[in-house]
Amino acid sequence: MLMFNLFSKSKNLITPILRCQLCSLDSQYKATICKDCWTQIPWETEKIIKQEVPIFVACRYEYPINRIIQKFKYEQQLHFQHLLANLILQLHLPKVQAIVPMPISEERLIERGYNQSLEVAKIVAKILNIPIWQPIQRMHQHSQKGLTRLERIENIQSQFQIKKDYKIRYKRVLILDDVVTTGSSILALMQSLEQLGCQKIFACAIANAN
Ligand SMILES: [Zn+2]
Repeated sequence: MLMFNLFSKSKNLITPILRCQLCSLDSQYKATICKDCWTQIPWETEKIIKQEVPIFVACRYEYPINRIIQKFKYEQQLHFQHLLANLILQLHLPKVQAIVPMPISEERLIERGYNQSLEVAKIVAKILNIPIWQPIQRMHQHSQKGLTRLERIENIQSQFQIKKDYKIRYKRVLILDDVVTTGSSILALMQSLEQLGCQKIFACAIANAN
């Protein structure tokens, strides 16, 4: 017992002061970053509407959030998942039964090694104490070049397909995406979830790129 106490005490003594993940200048204040960096986040103040769908969005896709998302998404800097999940958790999210991360195609997954939205969703789901639900798969996207607006929408919708033999079905879910641009992938995913019997589908994203 005494040994254990000594050990835990000495462990406390050597705990390093964690530096801000963004500037490294100050110590961490919230969600792995310092107070200054936290206040400089380009928060999005209102719920946005894309394709007539309301989307809860934490920030605008501006510096430093754009750089962080790029590093997280394309440079394997997965340690940013905590910060990004915390941005989502600042939103006044509705009560849901499960989180549906925006799926990526098999080709993307092989190329990137992970689904960035799933990595953020894992932390959000853990903190909210709800499961992650992935009943929809995304097929490879064909080029959108030369297509009309309507054809583009149809093209995106055809990418989202319900996985076979899905036993668990949730009624109230929250889609989690990283960056929203046109909102067409969120709309397409919503439509697939509706086909599965979801009655209330909310959507949230880390950043809004207009
Ligand atoms: Zn900082």
